[in-house]
Parts: sequence; C-alpha cells; structure tokens
Amino acid sequence: MRIKERAEAFTVADEVRKMGIYPYFRPIESDQDTEVIIGGKRVLMMGSNNYLGLTNHPEVKRAAIEAINQYGTGCAGSRFLNGTLRIHLELEEELAEFTGKEAALLYSTGFQVNLGVISTLIVRDSAVIIDRTDHASIIDGCRLAFGKTVKYEHNDTSALERALSSLDGTNGLIVVDGVFSMEGDIAELPDIVRLAERYNCDVMVDDAHSIGVLGPGGRGTAAHFGLEDKIQLIMGTFSKSLASIGGFVAGDRSVIDYLKHRSRALIFSASPPPASVASARTALMIMQREPERIQRLWENTRHLWDGLRSIDVDIGKSRTPIVPVLIGNDLNAFRVCCRLQEEGVFVNPVITPAVPKGGSLIRLSVMSTHTHEQIDRAVGILDRVMDECGVERRIDQR
Ligand code: PMP
Repeated sequence: MRIKERAEAFTVADEVRKMGIYPYFRPIESDQDTEVIIGGKRVLMMGSNNYLGLTNHPEVKRAAIEAINQYGTGCAGSRFLNGTLRIHLELEEELAEFTGKEAALLYSTGFQVNLGVISTLIVRDSAVIIDRTDHASIIDGCRLAFGKTVKYEHNDTSALERALSSLDGTNGLIVVDGVFSMEGDIAELPDIVRLAERYNCDVMVDDAHSIGVLGPGGRGTAAHFGLEDKIQLIMGTFSKSLASIGGFVAGDRSVIDYLKHRSRALIFSASPPPASVASARTALMIMQREPERIQRLWENTRHLWDGLRSIDVDIGKSRTPIVPVLIGNDLNAFRVCCRLQEEGVFVNPVITPAVPKGGSLIRLSVMSTHTHEQIDRAVGILDRVMDECGVERRIDQR
C-alpha cells in the first residue's frame, strides 16, 4: 500500500470528528496557567503536567530571554560537536547534585533520553526488563535495542521475579516509570531493588512525573523510598515540573561518559536550545528555594482525591497529582472530555493503547498553583457531566 492509501484507510479520527467529540490538538491561546483561553473562552486547566506552576513564572521567563540574548536561539549542532554551551554543563552539574549521582547528561527531550539510553546500553548479550505500562519512549528504546526485551505485568513483583528468573543469568536492566503517567500510581521500588540485587541486575527509573512531586525536595522516586544508592540510572524531563523541554539521565560517571560517546539519540541530534536550558535551570532553582510549592501540590492533590471520592467516581490507584477518572469506553471518554471543555474544564482523554482495553479514562492532573475553589469547581462540573453523559461511576470494578 502506498503511504497516501494507508493514511486514507485511517478513518477513526474523522469518524470521531464527525461525532463532534474529537478531543485532540486543542489550541491554547493564552499563557499556560491554572486557567487558559481556548476558542476565546476561559477554561480551567486540569490536564497539565506543569505540576509546580512554573511555566508562567516571571523569573523562568526572564532567564529564557536572557539566555537567548547571550547565546542565541539555537545550538546548530549536537552536544558532541559544536552544540555544547556552558549552561549545558552547568545544568548537568546541578542535576547530578540534585539526584545524588556522579554525573548527568542532557538530551533534547525526555523521549530521546529513553531511546538513547536503553538502545545504547542493551547490547546483544543483555536484556531490558520493563513494566508493561511503562512510557512509550521506554518501549521504543527497547525496540531499538539489540538485546532482549522482557515485559512483566504492571507493578506485579512476582511477575517481575518470573521475568528475571527467565533470563538465566543474562545481565539485565530493569526500567520503570517512577510515577506511572496515566494512572498516577508509584513503582514498587523497594521490591524492584530487592529483586534486582538478587538477580544481579541494574535499575533505571524514569522520573518524568516524579521530579518536583515525590521525595524530599522533589528529588524523585528513589529519594521518596530512600533508595538513591540502589538505583543506577535516573532519567527525568524538563517538560513537566521544570517548565521547559529537554531531558537528562544521571548515574555513574563512567556510564554517562560511555553514553556521551555511544548514544546515537544524543550524538546525532541538536542539543537543547539556550532558552530551554536556562528555563529548566531556573525552575530547578526555584523549586529548591520554595519547597512550599511541593507542599501545596500535595495539599491540592489530597483535595482533588477527596472531591472526586465525594462524587463516587473511580480514581483507580492514584497516589500522586495524576488522578485518573475511570470511564471504560473510549467514546465515553471523548464525550466526557468534550462536554467538560464546553462547561469550562480542560482534561485529557486516555484510551487504548495507552491504557488496557476497556480501561479508558480521563486524566486529571493538579498543579500547586490551583486554588481549592478551582478544584471544587472542576469536581462539581465533572459530577454534572458524568450524569449528563450517562457514564457509570464504576467504583471498585478494578
Ligand atoms: N517518560 C515519561 C514517563 C513521560 O510521561 C514522558 C512525557 N509524556 C516522557 C518520558 C517523555 O518526555 P518528553 O515529553 O520530555 O519528551
């Protein structure tokens, strides 16, 4: 089939558009805060990963502008060649210290970190062991790797043990999301570390949704469990709490140096631009200077959990500011999502393959800068829309 024919055979998006419940690519016309303008209308933003509310912070914006003035708008090359600026190295040092690791390495996106790290480290005689619901970038990293990939059931320690025992002594790297991005639960890191030690494996944690959220000072999942020394690699992104774009991996100096010279997603891609690096650095600095932001994020998270429980919706296993409301059917998830927007609340629908079939949900995420009034308003509107759309509140069905 020629590419155009293949594209034209893809009709599902058009079908949903015709039903008037297409929920993707909705353009935001304002700054990104707890309320945004879409289609000329103000809506409550309950679907952003801007957990600490820093994307619109004046200091962060100023740092980006100053970096452009000093360094220009782009790097015109990869970190490997002409694309390393002093601020890249400064941020790497700050992130190494922040994560308690010897060294860190910046990539242009978090997605590229997972692609670049996993595909480089998992060579022919080694294996990568992943949670079945790990982020797409981890799965794609495994697809690019020459070694073997073994998947285990989500957060199931005995399934992990079975996967590890099937390796017959092959060296393995276990890669898990610290906070699972769709359902908001936390990896069972103590069990994972115990098994990794027993089976002589390394562990890499994807802290995309954990930095600025979990652990003392927002230091992530390993810090949350007091296991920093037992985790060989920590990756993170700047596209959530750190109010920018880009990503990093932190670990032993020798591993980072190896990646610097072997990781194709790093070497053959231009480095993150000055404005992005400067905004991430400033967000990291503000996050450490103002720990009350993280405290407020958790107060808001608890307030949202309580509100949603009070209207009897099923919030699954959420333990973090990512709070799913389980809907079940894909079209219903779209319907609820679009009705919510009409009523003034932005949320994201999540359908298969991002979640198992029949497990469609709408994903709410709370920010430290939301007020309780805004959260209450969102819950009240959701309560009404669930009824209007005739969606069951499937409590305890999982
Ligand atoms: N890992 C996880 C768990 C994520 O949720 C994401 C982004 N959705 C990424 C990696 C990729 O990060 P980025 O958006 O910075 O490319």
